Amino acid sequence: MSPPPSPPPGAAFLECTGTGATFPSERLAGLSPAGKPLFARYDLDSLRGRFTPAAVACRVPSLWRYEEVLPVRDRAFRVTLGEGFTPLVDSPRLARELGVGRLRIKDEGQNPTGSFKDRGLCMAVSRAFELGVRELAIPSAGNAAGSTAAYGAAAGLPVHVVVPDDTPLPILAEIRALGADLQLLRGLIGDCGRVVRERCDRDGWWDLSTLKEPYRVEGKKTMGYELFEQLGGRLPDAIVYPTGGGTGLIGMWKAFAEMEALGWIGSERPRMFSVQSDGCAPMVRAWEAGLEAAPVWEDAETYAAGLRVPGAVGDFLILRAIRESGGGAVAVSDREMERWVGRMGAATGIFAAPEGGATAAAVPRLMEMGLIHGGDEVVLFNTGSGLKYVGMAPGGSRA
Ligand SMILES: *Cc1c(COP(=O)(O)O)cnc(C)c1O
Repeated sequence: MSPPPSPPPGAAFLECTGTGATFPSERLAGLSPAGKPLFARYDLDSLRGRFTPAAVACRVPSLWRYEEVLPVRDRAFRVTLGEGFTPLVDSPRLARELGVGRLRIKDEGQNPTGSFKDRGLCMAVSRAFELGVRELAIPSAGNAAGSTAAYGAAAGLPVHVVVPDDTPLPILAEIRALGADLQLLRGLIGDCGRVVRERCDRDGWWDLSTLKEPYRVEGKKTMGYELFEQLGGRLPDAIVYPTGGGTGLIGMWKAFAEMEALGWIGSERPRMFSVQSDGCAPMVRAWEAGLEAAPVWEDAETYAAGLRVPGAVGDFLILRAIRESGGGAVAVSDREMERWVGRMGAATGIFAAPEGGATAAAVPRLMEMGLIHGGDEVVLFNTGSGLKYVGMAPGGSRA
């Protein structure tokens, strides 16, 4: 008897994360009618036993090795610059300094534009390209704009970005060099989002804002699959993740559920920890208060551009993942981030973004709180390269 044929690549349908209502995956989609993010769902039952760690093991060292659970159907529409499959660096000296059993750093600074935004935007741009989008737009705190500029240029599609006027200079230089239309705004990412939305309505641009289309999270979720592969077929005890819009944390949580449905893992999960800046900590405040959604943070300020996100459309998904995993959320100051960028660098050789420094700064706090223990195997996410923040000083202003 021959096995049934594999399902075609791509998502089977889209599902509202608020109501569970389903929608076709072959049309462009933004938020659900309920105003919540949409998730791509795959025919995981049919993939069980075919899409396995062994099948993936000798594939390309990029996030496209997980193509069965990615939304792009036709390989011709993959826009790729070598994103993903970043090193998971064993860091015994930093582990000793922090007093944890084993510590690894997932070094996302090694993505094509120096941040993990490349994962999400590579996927969202590819899928939009496949579905016929001709013009891309994004509001960003910085790195997402650089990634969109890169993947738009690679696809040959025009890109419009709107960013705060105090975005780090290396990121502005990158956006300009990659040929994107750049608009600077006095304000925060939410203000940039309003400008983008107007132009999308008026001029037919396609809005790639965090979780407002279903596919950036699909790119980001590959971090969860990679952790499992790079740890030789298991997951760590704890993941410490610098959280802005939360796409990466939400994505990994989704990946773990998929991996369980595929038979890769059981019901065990790493404890998920969100780190934010004490100048913008809506998730920490909501977690401490036991809320299911996070009220917007007023007067957000931090030099960690990726963490300057006062309100996140996926707030309820972030908080749910943290709680269900037995994790937590903690805020650190810009000064602590800066100090830990230095300590992490000296102990590992990795020049981390402030957001990466924040994850190390969070560990002593989480240990004091009894949420991370001395024997734990911990993974810190360095989400970007320190090179993208040259000239920025703690507090949010340029040096
Ligand atoms: C965007 C960004 C973050 C926050 O990521 P989310 O998945 O949106 O929470 C963290 N670090 C860096 C360097 C970023 O660019």
